[in-house]
Amino acid sequence: MLRRSLSRASPLLSNGLLQTLPLAFAPSIRSLRSLSSHTTPQTLNPSPSQEEEPHENLRDSSRPTVSVLIDRSSLHNSPEHSPNPSSDSELVKHLKSIIKFRGGPISVAEYMEEVLTNPHSGFYINQDVFGAGGDFITSPEVSQMFGEMIGVWTMCLWEQMGQPEKVNLIELGPGRGTLMADLLRGSSKFVNFKRSLHIHMVECSPTLQKLQHSALKCMDEAMNEDGSTKRTISTLSGSPVSWHSTLEQVPFGTPTIIIAHEFYDALPVHQFQQSSRGWCEKMVDVSEDSLNFRFVLSPTPTPAALLYLRKRCQWASAEEAAKLDHIEVCPKAMELTHQIAKRISSDGGGALIIDYGKNGIISDSLQAIRKHKFVNILDNPGSADLSAYVDFASIRHSAEEVSEHISVHGPITQSQFLGYLGINFRVEALLQNCTEEQAESLKTGYWQLVGDGGAPFWEGPNEQTPIGMGNRYLAMAIVNKKQGVPVPFE
Ligand code: SAH
Repeated sequence: MLRRSLSRASPLLSNGLLQTLPLAFAPSIRSLRSLSSHTTPQTLNPSPSQEEEPHENLRDSSRPTVSVLIDRSSLHNSPEHSPNPSSDSELVKHLKSIIKFRGGPISVAEYMEEVLTNPHSGFYINQDVFGAGGDFITSPEVSQMFGEMIGVWTMCLWEQMGQPEKVNLIELGPGRGTLMADLLRGSSKFVNFKRSLHIHMVECSPTLQKLQHSALKCMDEAMNEDGSTKRTISTLSGSPVSWHSTLEQVPFGTPTIIIAHEFYDALPVHQFQQSSRGWCEKMVDVSEDSLNFRFVLSPTPTPAALLYLRKRCQWASAEEAAKLDHIEVCPKAMELTHQIAKRISSDGGGALIIDYGKNGIISDSLQAIRKHKFVNILDNPGSADLSAYVDFASIRHSAEEVSEHISVHGPITQSQFLGYLGINFRVEALLQNCTEEQAESLKTGYWQLVGDGGAPFWEGPNEQTPIGMGNRYLAMAIVNKKQGVPVPFE
């Protein structure tokens, strides 16, 4: 069945580069990524228990039952918080102390930011959270073909940019560095492309920076005779690599290609709720006995509600906004998009954003995942990943409002994106030269990446339709208009 569907080419693949690139890639299978024991966020099957509260996830729209109180801290003195119980983690103590010294609750966005990226004890900071042994798995970890296809996209854009001699290839939130490593390995035969690359990894976690360093097989190279000035080189491509904690730190003035895979979903969101007092903000407070965290609702609309909610709703039809009594807004995503659009507008190039989400306002999607299971967002913060659906419509509007020199394309589904770029040809090429075990792994990986109820390349019986990330994940591109329309968004 797989082979039957593989032989079906998309219209785009019938011409030129897109047909030859996936075949021209190094024909090797880098390693066997055993998938059978892996669980993706999409295939999670939350089993409610006292500790594991069911929450909206990518397949299950059943809503969590979270009680929200009204924040009365501004009406009377908030209860004196007792000393931190000694069993509290550093992050829990830190969060409780922020709430105590502020004299009131913090926004969900501030909570999310602290939980994920607090420089001492944030979820991403000190540990490898990916893969079967970690908390969740992402597409680059599922199959080498994912990074290779992003490589095809990157090379096509580089061609459209006029094959610049130097290009800044920036990855936002590179995780273990697997996507970039597969991109570099896959494109190693394309010498001029490879030579042009200056790689910039934007990563806040020192632990993950080290993993990325080793995934890219980096070594230090002396730049002068006495060896006092050094630069880091990836031996996969011979390209210089540098690390930054924010996009702003990457030097300007060079044509740029930006990849953001599952980065936007980690950016902090504000949550607003319609109430008899108008749109109030959901906040995080400490319970009366100071032991746990709890949600409370602001007594009146907060400055964030007035600013961000109003801004987001300007981009929605009255009909769209009227349907919702919960709205999530991610100002950091708007800010990041502004930066991306301005950079691309001045330096040329483009950005590719792939994430799970929706092309419209998001209602209430924040979720926590620990060891491949959904858990309560407020339970033992720092020990579970927090993520929210990405609002692609907001990204489009944010990009368009800062520059006339860029164009925004998509979103299209991951399945369409990978299919049009030639993943079918790539899997076929790899299958011709592998062991039975590797073939199984390749097929499973392929279906995890492109499969879903409505996978366009599935021709088998409906009851066997594979479950995957193909339709849940969306791809969007922001490019400088000089480059024309990027593949495969024509
Ligand atoms: N792109 C990778 C990892 C996604 S997880 C993959 O698909 O496998 C999110 C990544 O973004 C992690 O590497 C995390 O450490 C990083 N990250 C999250 N928030 C960040 C921030 N504010 N600044 C820089 N890096 C961040």
